[in-house]
Amino acid sequence: MTTSLFLCDCGGALRKSIDFEALEDRLSSYEGVGPVTILSSLCQRDGLERIQREIETRAPSSIVVGACSKRTLLPVLERAAREVGFNASLIEPVNLREQCAWVHDDRAKATQKAERLMKGGIGKSRLLRAIETRETTRLASVLIVGAGVAGIQAALDLANQGFDVKLLDESPTIGGKMALLVKTYPTDDCAICILGPKMAEAASHPNIKLLTYHEVVGAQKRPEGFKVRIRRKPSYVDPGKCTGCGVCAEKCPVKVKNEWNGGLGFRKAIYLPYPQAIPRKYVIDSENCLYLKKGVCRICEKFCPAKAPNFEDKAEEFDLEFGTVILSTGFEEFDPSWAPETGFGKYPDVITQLQLARILDPSGPTDGKLKRPSDGSKPERITMVQCVGSRDPRYSKYCSRYCCMAALKNSVLVKIEQNPQSEITILYKDVRAAGKGFEEY
Ligand code: SF4
Ligand code: SF4
Repeated sequence: MTTSLFLCDCGGALRKSIDFEALEDRLSSYEGVGPVTILSSLCQRDGLERIQREIETRAPSSIVVGACSKRTLLPVLERAAREVGFNASLIEPVNLREQCAWVHDDRAKATQKAERLMKGGIGKSRLLRAIETRETTRLASVLIVGAGVAGIQAALDLANQGFDVKLLDESPTIGGKMALLVKTYPTDDCAICILGPKMAEAASHPNIKLLTYHEVVGAQKRPEGFKVRIRRKPSYVDPGKCTGCGVCAEKCPVKVKNEWNGGLGFRKAIYLPYPQAIPRKYVIDSENCLYLKKGVCRICEKFCPAKAPNFEDKAEEFDLEFGTVILSTGFEEFDPSWAPETGFGKYPDVITQLQLARILDPSGPTDGKLKRPSDGSKPERITMVQCVGSRDPRYSKYCSRYCCMAALKNSVLVKIEQNPQSEITILYKDVRAAGKGFEEY
């Protein structure tokens, strides 16, 4: 078990800072160390051939190379080692250039440091194990977890390059939060008008398969990618039969708060998240459906012209293999009831920006008309409180990079589209418009 040592003075450039002969002397006395060789240009062909000769004549158990940065040196060393059948994982590079010679003036101390660095490399080389390399082909399939705008765009980009893409979301629709924002800053474009065509394109793309109402249960790393366990949640509606006509929701007697409108307004126990949802397939909310909870009702089944409700539906799990997994899981809105000084949860007219966006949305709970949740009247004075839950040591010290722009956008929408006479006050620490064109907005 001997370790061969090579020192490179980088064409003599490192000699000003390091005494290579003294270093060679000291390292030669280390136990288990074979010959110490000083080279002037280890990374050049003759330097690499010198290492190859050492391997062929002495068959060292490992090699420690004191030279320059690992990033620069290791690829050429590995190639040279492989050429003579030496396992490249048994080579330990030590950076004597950037981490020693270039940053010290005192030659004696730098030489001492170089010795310590080499000593560390020698110690590590004794723990090295030959790692077997195998070549595998990466699967050309991609799982994208989260079908908001980022996931959809990634899916389209990859699918257009020929990748086989599965676009997964735990909710019954793709589109994520952007679909709920009514308009987007800094251009005030209609959010669903931008997103809707992308949603439709993703749904109809031959290389994209939607896995809505699915979730990831687990994943295993494989050389060729990942084996992912996926769970399909029971929707209790056969998607192959459902035409999205909505008759079932009209007849369903159960009303629950509509989480797709931030808890404002109601939806039925059988529902479509919002009118532009894709796929346009209704799902039954098992926590509120009378039949699934109490064994009575099935009105939706009675009125459904396609006989799509399927109360026998069960969750199922299956494995799929992917070359790549992209996580685009987005965000959850902060729950301001955590900050009781805001009055959120206590006073019905204290709402979040997302709830306001839903109120301003023509497909939202008030059909796009600005109304107070408490009495349906039009508010004349509105106060927006910034940094709730962010830049607050009680919850998160970081800036959300979102709420300043959301407040400005919603203020503009209220002023321009709803009530030019309204008086809007924004309470802020400082306005952080962090994005292209945001400051101008
Ligand atoms: S479940 Fe039936 S009634 Fe409901 S939307 Fe689908 S097809 Fe129409
Ligand atoms: S069975 Fe459930 S989903 Fe269907 S109508 Fe009754 S409560 Fe609504």
